[in-house]
Amino acid sequence: MQPMRIRAGVLAFVCLTATLLITLRAQQPAYDLLLRNAHIVDGTGSPWFKGDLAISGDSIVKIAAVIDQPAARVIDVAGAVVAPGFIDIHTHARRGLLDVPTAPNYVRQGVTTVMEGPDGSSPLPISTFLAQLDRVGKSLNIGTFVGQGSIRDAVVGRVNRPATAQEIQKMSSLAEQAMKDGAFGISTGLFYVPGTFTPTDEVVELARAAARFGGMHESHQRDDAAKVLESVRETIAIGERGGLPTQISHAKVIGQANWGKSADMLRLVEEARTRGVDVTLDQYPYTASSTSIAAALLPAWMLEGGQDALLGRLRDPATRARAKTEVASIIRDERGGGDPKNVQFASCAFDPSLDGRTLADLTIAHGLEPNLENAADTTLWVVEQGGCQGIFHAMSDDDLEHILRYPGTMIASDGEVPIFGRAFPHPRSYGTFARVLGVYVREKNVLTLEDAVRRMSSFPAARLGLLDRGVLRQGMKADIAVFDAATVRDAATYEKPHRYAEGFSCVIVNGQVVFERGEMTASRPGRVLYGPGKGR
Ligand SMILES: [Zn+2]
Repeated sequence: MQPMRIRAGVLAFVCLTATLLITLRAQQPAYDLLLRNAHIVDGTGSPWFKGDLAISGDSIVKIAAVIDQPAARVIDVAGAVVAPGFIDIHTHARRGLLDVPTAPNYVRQGVTTVMEGPDGSSPLPISTFLAQLDRVGKSLNIGTFVGQGSIRDAVVGRVNRPATAQEIQKMSSLAEQAMKDGAFGISTGLFYVPGTFTPTDEVVELARAAARFGGMHESHQRDDAAKVLESVRETIAIGERGGLPTQISHAKVIGQANWGKSADMLRLVEEARTRGVDVTLDQYPYTASSTSIAAALLPAWMLEGGQDALLGRLRDPATRARAKTEVASIIRDERGGGDPKNVQFASCAFDPSLDGRTLADLTIAHGLEPNLENAADTTLWVVEQGGCQGIFHAMSDDDLEHILRYPGTMIASDGEVPIFGRAFPHPRSYGTFARVLGVYVREKNVLTLEDAVRRMSSFPAARLGLLDRGVLRQGMKADIAVFDAATVRDAATYEKPHRYAEGFSCVIVNGQVVFERGEMTASRPGRVLYGPGKGR
């Protein structure tokens, strides 16, 4: 009978332990964090509804009209909008994220995930880059594309010739490796060197490599000015022939002579979708773009081979004269917006006192009348000093709104993580998402609130295959933005870019509050996110 008695004793002990655990659990709050009295905009585009949202660990565990159970912390949001944290599919965050890992310019406008590796440019190998990001304590999540231009640079160099069959083989295997390392797809920057030297067929080969691992393609198109429609056709062809989703990044029409072409751009997109090509767009809500002065205002042939080759060409009087003529026409018809006043210096390493001033200002400072010819001279001088980042006012409001209204357009900043107060970055880095909500939802009624949030959350999430983010629903990761729809606004301008967005009261990443009461918190819950080919 001894064994029986032991068994009974064990059973009594087990029951006692279970009772104790149940008692303990009853005393513990059911949730870590409860948001009460929310206007829930769930990210799907459905109309907002009143409710409470409970979080445990890194996930949303309940959404209901009223949640009564206790929580370790309760925030009464008092009718504010509770939305999925915004997912920015096109950023240059790596420029500053290692210096400013809280990325307050993004978090304070509700962004909880940023994608890197845009415009054909990414670090290689991706695995080293992602490991580095993984070691950094950061406020938001980050993932990356692999850049076609970076791959071409590594294999072919910055030269203007088609790749050999052997080089294409090598580039394809680099693209495949990047997908296995966790890239979300391949980005191209066919406007830039060396992307601009790449024939479409070669891009398609690399797109196929990304497609084999479920990746997508996003494009800074070859030409957003006179040849914008040819470029749209090319972006569509890369998706169609490459066998993968394709996206026109920061969709725009540059140069007054080309304004209005957004109608044809969207017609081409719609025709492609009708025949089954998965093509979409992203856009920032500004009529100025930003990139380097050299990339924007010099013809590509000047940039072949890098800075030394460029300086060599500028020393040859005949080549310089030809360059000057072409730069003057680019200022007139393309990124220069027809007037050197429309080119602003964002940051000049060789002379930070130029930051914020215009190409017209500098031309006058050189003792010259600020006409196109003299501005072209000044541009060549700037490039010889080492160059600057620039801001280029050369788009129209009509095209912007037209592209924004299209249901297949999502919101992306194309911004960076600035060091607060330093240089004159494009205001998109601080304001993109808040500007859409303030200007294009509330003031201009171009989009409904729910549709705008969809374009910032579930749409990019689905595009990237981030199936556990982008929608407020039980079981999803708790990335959340809380804001007042009546006051949300961008404050950053071209004159005063270092201003945080307003109207956000709380931002949550992976269940932890990273921003509240106007301050970034000490939490660093941001994670590296991996694409569909990871580990395959
Ligand atoms: Zn770009």
